[in-house]
Amino acid sequence: MSLREKTRRILRAYGVIPRKRLGQSFLVNESIMQKMASYASLSKQETVLEIGAGLGFLTEILAKKAGQVVAVEIDSRLAKVLERRLRQYSNVNLLQGDILKLEVPDFDKVVSTPPYSISSPLLFWLFEKRFSQAVLAFQEEFARRLAAAAGSKDYGRLTVATWYNAEVELLDLIPRKMFWPPPKVDSMIVRLTPRKPPFHVKDERFFFQVVRTIFTQRNKKLRNAIMPFLNSFAQSKMEALKIADSLPFHNRRPRELAPEEICVVANELFNVVS
Ligand code: SAH
Repeated sequence: MSLREKTRRILRAYGVIPRKRLGQSFLVNESIMQKMASYASLSKQETVLEIGAGLGFLTEILAKKAGQVVAVEIDSRLAKVLERRLRQYSNVNLLQGDILKLEVPDFDKVVSTPPYSISSPLLFWLFEKRFSQAVLAFQEEFARRLAAAAGSKDYGRLTVATWYNAEVELLDLIPRKMFWPPPKVDSMIVRLTPRKPPFHVKDERFFFQVVRTIFTQRNKKLRNAIMPFLNSFAQSKMEALKIADSLPFHNRRPRELAPEEICVVANELFNVVS
């Protein structure tokens, strides 16, 4: 029986109608799941986190390859399915709840097709954690934003935040028809390998404030995009303008500035205002 048929049967048997709001599209292609697991090169010494375990097909593959699996699922209907289906795997720790709110035990790696509705907060949540590698399926458009080149349309705050925290690899496209029910767009497998920030910023919080401010006006010149931020520091409008014009790259636009260049701007600005 195909995985698609199996998925439909299980959903029918448990009377579960997939909820769009929870991103409930289930991956129904086993070779893609195997591929995702192998991209993470799991070992029996490692604990792997799965976010949104769904019906548990990927969970089973992970349970065979990793030492421990922490499988999180928000939907109580699916948690019930998972409990039944994964009963024989003593190394699976099933947690029911919202990944963004739960207390999650330590993990070494992440392999998951998480719900698309939480892609961005999930990424920021992950960057606060310690882990060695994550293999995730995201919407294609979102995946491309993570690895976008400065100046391209996908480049932005998310790119800079990701660059600061991890190395990104875009691995494979997953056509939408490999999910059930099929979503509206294709997906992409992404591998994130956390690393030390590639550039020394003097103050991380300050750096991310600068990033947030300038990307809300990504097409303006930097000297204008930075003004709202400067107005909160400077004594007068005149002083703010003077600082803006003294910044490196002040005539370029945020969307064209490479992450390293934004670091230089933030460090320069930090010197001026602290
Ligand atoms: N990984 C499974 C399911 C993908 S669908 C598969 O590929 O088949 C996404 C899953 O995430 C759904 O089961 C949904 O119920 C779950 N989910 C949605 N929001 C969640 C959250 N905040 N925390 C944990 N799980 C969540």
